Amino acid sequence: MRTQASVLHLDLDAFFAAVEQRDKPSLRGKPVVVGGVGGRGVVATASYEARRFGVHSAMSTREARSRCPHAAYLGGRFEAYRETSRAVMGLLREVSPLVEPLSLDEAFVDLEQATEDGAPVGLEVADVTAFAQRLRARVHEVTGGLTASVGVATSKFVAKVASDLDKPDGLVVVPPGTEQELLRPMRATVIPGVGPATAERLRRAGIVTVADLEAVSLDELVRLVGRAHGTGLHDLARALDDRPVVAEREAKSVSAEGTYETDLTDRRLMEGLLTRQAGEVAARLRKHGLSGRTVSIKVRLHDFTTLSRSTTLNEPTDSTTTVARLARGLLADLDTSGGVRLLGVGVSGLADWIQDDLFGEPEPDPDDAELAELAATPPTVRARSVWVPGQDVVHDEHGAGWVWGSGRGVVTVRFETAATPPGPVRSFPIDDPALHRAENRVPDDV
Ligand SMILES: [Mg+2]
Repeated sequence: MRTQASVLHLDLDAFFAAVEQRDKPSLRGKPVVVGGVGGRGVVATASYEARRFGVHSAMSTREARSRCPHAAYLGGRFEAYRETSRAVMGLLREVSPLVEPLSLDEAFVDLEQATEDGAPVGLEVADVTAFAQRLRARVHEVTGGLTASVGVATSKFVAKVASDLDKPDGLVVVPPGTEQELLRPMRATVIPGVGPATAERLRRAGIVTVADLEAVSLDELVRLVGRAHGTGLHDLARALDDRPVVAEREAKSVSAEGTYETDLTDRRLMEGLLTRQAGEVAARLRKHGLSGRTVSIKVRLHDFTTLSRSTTLNEPTDSTTTVARLARGLLADLDTSGGVRLLGVGVSGLADWIQDDLFGEPEPDPDDAELAELAATPPTVRARSVWVPGQDVVHDEHGAGWVWGSGRGVVTVRFETAATPPGPVRSFPIDDPALHRAENRVPDDV
């Protein structure tokens, strides 16, 4: 254990939704839901305004729509998220050589190696508090107005818990020596790896809080949840966490796949196989105390074309139900009518979907992947004349804007960017030659 609070965890608040609100002034202060907008879509991120209506990540978009019908439902713009993430990670790497990204919007920073204006950063509580406030202000600047929540503590575990305590736009520094005091009243699920299944097993043994867990002997814990998991829980319940901040992480993922003698054509059968594989993957995640934010499927067609599709949640999961539902949703968007030879499901433990391909196969065309990944809309979405809500567009006459909605041959565009006041809405025929996709650009760059 470190004797000083020198591990910093930074987490951008409601990241995808916040980027959308930054670039779409008319949505600021309003409920925004980013995720799959199709019939089987799943919420990736909800803005805080939408969370007030009970909308949260991993919920089906259908359920979200019934809870918050007036929210803006957007398909997601990966290039804008990547670009914003790059700016934040770049800033963190200026501060310390030891930056460990967990996903696009989250990273650990080792302050023992951090410098500011050429001098080492002080590690007393007052020093790291002031430093973290300056860092949050700089994140706000480089992202064009996004907020980050930060936790600083003597370990990764406690720093990550702390960054969540005063969200959004919060800072919590846990003074060395007070870690256990902080953790004891919390639910055991605050410990990484205690997913719903483990929590239920512990609850049946009368263990609900971290304090309850702390009172259980190592032998008893091993008996309850197994050797690998039990040892980890025993330590973390005592705030014992020596894991270093590592700049380069190995790409970790858990997957299951099967190849089939005859081409599968029955969609229900394929869904059943994916569901079973999702169960295997989720069980392995739980066994190793892992959870991941990115769920992927791999499908090899009768002609040996191999497709992979993935979707990313705002929160990590180790739930069979969630992994299975997302996997089936991804399958729904693929044309498998010619027959399928191989099916697979994977969850990335790092939840890092910058990672090019979970299965080590070439990526499809990035534009297709971008749309398919999160928008989870039918394959026809790639046709030029079909528009995804939230997508950036440029009109020859009216300039830059975003797709507000489309249907019945009409597309409605709101003409505004990060740099303008809320703009007007206009409608066009979906094949209007004056309307174009804005390729790989965020509006304030156009
Ligand atoms: Mg976040």
